[in-house]
Amino acid sequence: ITRLLKPLRLLLLGAPGSGKGTQTSMLLKQIPQLSSLSSGDILRQEIKSESTLGRKAATYIAQGKLLPDDLITQLITFRLSKMGWLKPPATWLLDGFPRTTAQASTLDGILKQHNTDLNLVVELDVPESAILERIENRYVHVPSGRVYNLQYNPPKVPGLDDITGEPLTKRLDDTVEVFKKRLEEFKKANEPLKVYYKKSGLLCTVSGESSDIIFPKLLNLITSKFGQ
Ligand code: ATP
Ligand code: MG
Repeated sequence: ITRLLKPLRLLLLGAPGSGKGTQTSMLLKQIPQLSSLSSGDILRQEIKSESTLGRKAATYIAQGKLLPDDLITQLITFRLSKMGWLKPPATWLLDGFPRTTAQASTLDGILKQHNTDLNLVVELDVPESAILERIENRYVHVPSGRVYNLQYNPPKVPGLDDITGEPLTKRLDDTVEVFKKRLEEFKKANEPLKVYYKKSGLLCTVSGESSDIIFPKLLNLITSKFGQ
């Protein structure tokens, strides 16, 4: 268990399948003060509940395209405020938002209005060869966002979530074809986003082939900056 001495407001960046969700779960276990929000998880819950937003989002997600900036920004900032994350000194982690410079500067503006800010951005740098294989073996528990990998991190009972026993599903965008498109979209948006966060001095990179290699590096980075 790690206790942070200063509030952490972290953004995780990384290619699809780079393990943002896995690192998030590992961090939540290790740092009890931390809470997380994943844009992809929220969208998958909206799709599952067949909301108007979910239906709209599904058409983009199924094609591996990004949602329009205003749509996703409204959704996420509403959640941020509902969860009390706009009130400093909250400690939190974002996965999947912002992912364009437009989203990043809107978020910065909103945080600034509330006298708070992002204070760390970490890119998970995983070789492309490793990620496609992960995508093909990936199953998710939509209500919680928990991620399983049939090879590296299988559920205790095949097809069922470890905690709730509810069924796992395959993401509709985890196919070879859609994955290619997602990777392309990621690369296009990620370069300018990295430049944006480099300019504000927030960007760090953690590299590795597997989540078990990345996690200790990530935790080290966080504790070296935020205490204990
Ligand atoms: P991973 O495989 O690590 O989960 P990913 O980034 O491909 O990576 P999600 O973050 O779950 O997957 O996002 C899935 C889809 O949801 C995206 O392809 C996109 O259509 C949509 N989406 C999620 N976040 C955003 C965002 N910030 N802006 C636009 N679209 C988004
Ligand atoms: Mg994810």
